[in-house]
Amino acid sequence: MTPYPFCYTASAETGETTPDFKGYLGLRGAQPPGPDFAEGSGAGSRWRSLEARLLYQRTLHNRITVRGVGLHSGRAIEVALLPAAPGSGIVFYRTDAQVEIPARVSHVVETRLATTLGKGGVQVGTVEHLMAALYGLGVDNARIELDGPEVPIVDGSAAPFVEAIQRGGGTVAQSRPKRFLVLKRPVEVVGEDRIARLEPAESFQLDCFIDFPHPLVSRQHRKFVFSDRAFLSEIARARTFGFGKDVDAMHQAGLALGGSLDNAVVIDDFSVRNPEGLRFPDEFVRHKILDAIGDLALLGAPIVGRYVGRKAGHALNAALVESLLAQPRAFEWGEFRNKKDAVSAGVQVPAFRLA
Ligand SMILES: [Zn+2]
Repeated sequence: MTPYPFCYTASAETGETTPDFKGYLGLRGAQPPGPDFAEGSGAGSRWRSLEARLLYQRTLHNRITVRGVGLHSGRAIEVALLPAAPGSGIVFYRTDAQVEIPARVSHVVETRLATTLGKGGVQVGTVEHLMAALYGLGVDNARIELDGPEVPIVDGSAAPFVEAIQRGGGTVAQSRPKRFLVLKRPVEVVGEDRIARLEPAESFQLDCFIDFPHPLVSRQHRKFVFSDRAFLSEIARARTFGFGKDVDAMHQAGLALGGSLDNAVVIDDFSVRNPEGLRFPDEFVRHKILDAIGDLALLGAPIVGRYVGRKAGHALNAALVESLLAQPRAFEWGEFRNKKDAVSAGVQVPAFRLA
């Protein structure tokens, strides 16, 4: 497999989770606020403009497309990502069925192997890696058009979507502030030996633990403090994975038909099948963090709080998001027009690590 031409390589990882302001601005493709941007475009308002671009909603600068096969159907699919109006959120549109499906947990219809959204019998599967890429780049509003039943798996990570968005002009700030979901009380869902929890914290953080009875995966634990730059360097490139015997059985059952060594890490008894090996020594737990970000994105808002996952997967993550939304006293909505607003609310949204 040819390494994806993504600008962040494993060796570029710094472990840095508190990038400086310049670091944020150094994001390839980052654009100045767009024409509908209300603040900070006049002379002498440079600081206000920079601050606002971190706190205001964002969309894509241009329409971009990504092609690939569907992991489960094996079908060739093209997905188009288009700019969308402030407040519209992420909305999928199946062009072949002319059905819109908002990317919200209320539309989750299946969590086996991947997260699938659906409405009126029309589905969009494997949304989590694309959702993670959009969350990672701070995109609040986008229309996702596709002509098939699942988002292409591409290389099994979020990196190809990030790369395509950056190559297509990056993102642009809009006229309305982001609406942050601020955790106030812990919410937890439990299944056998698995746990997924959200709890109050000053910024968006994830703490994931996996435990597979396999010498190459075994127990892996990683904490991650979200920032866009840390997402790009530490998480976005981590690929989905599966065990060789499960993959072979799935192929025989007509599942994961598009699965190959080009879009997943496949693990045999004592080795990784992929000739290029792993992108990170702990790529597996990093991918779990990526999946959790993609699943939490179905809240429809950026989060201020800590996610803790112990052997959690898509089903538990979806249950956690549903459980949170069913407990209005567990969270508050926060809009911050400037740094002072957030500081007085006791909130350190990721942006302020950059200032
Ligand atoms: Zn995944």
